[in-house]
Amino acid sequence: MVVARTIEELNEARRDLRGEVGFAPTMGALHAGHLSLIERAKKENDFAAVSIYVNPTQFGAGEDFERYPRKEEADIALCRAAGVDLLFMPKTIYSEDEPIVRAPLIGASILEGAIRANHFDGVLTVVMKLFNLIKPQRAYFGKKDAQQLWLITKMVRSFFMDIAIVSCETTRESGGLALSSRNAYLSGNEKKEALKLSESLFEASKLIKRSEIRSLAIVQAIAEVLKPLAIDYIAIVDRDFKPIETIKKGETIILIAARVGATRLIDNMWI
Ligand code: AMP
Repeated sequence: MVVARTIEELNEARRDLRGEVGFAPTMGALHAGHLSLIERAKKENDFAAVSIYVNPTQFGAGEDFERYPRKEEADIALCRAAGVDLLFMPKTIYSEDEPIVRAPLIGASILEGAIRANHFDGVLTVVMKLFNLIKPQRAYFGKKDAQQLWLITKMVRSFFMDIAIVSCETTRESGGLALSSRNAYLSGNEKKEALKLSESLFEASKLIKRSEIRSLAIVQAIAEVLKPLAIDYIAIVDRDFKPIETIKKGETIILIAARVGATRLIDNMWI
């Protein structure tokens, strides 16, 4: 495995990868969710590339950029064990006063975008930069960040980028909690509270299996399970992120965001 820390080192290492490259961009503090993306990248391509970069432009003022977990040594070991061929860990990939990619108005203003102003501009900008540097044939993203996955897919289509976006299932702890680097912020008791997110989605799924299709009824049931957490949103949308009043199998995503103490968590379920 080559560990490239500068763009020059990356370019040199990339030239040696002659074949198809699968790429998983991450912010590090790697967990089994990240590793599932890496495994797929490895399996479906000649080479697997991973980036670890806590991207400053996707964090808002007062968010957790400074304290975001950084675990460089452990991450390098995990990537090596997973058979990663190229690991890109730059200090920065920005220079001053650069153009940025703007998320489409709807994507930037709903759900995560409504709460985290400019978040998706930062995400799309860094992903565009990383795609141009790594030049992958396929890029792997988790359904856990459903709105991000949707916007990246849109960006790739809009800019005619020749990269296949592969969506990967959410990896969960045995209790149901979706793995996230931010789970490290949770105390023991908060971790128990955090289980309410996945429990509420499992409850929704149960109701849908019993033929409940009214979005409003599902939202109410989810809100009940989430109590007493502070809810940022519960949304039921189609694959284009348009709110829908009735659930249609194969076309629906249920998204939730809630705060457990000071930690903001998101989760979702694709119906
Ligand atoms: P992050 O390091 O949080 O920016 O995530 C990097 C990539 O890993 C993104 O595509 C995420 O959607 C994906 N990811 C994060 N958590 C999970 C999870 N629990 N299961 C599957 N993919 C995940």
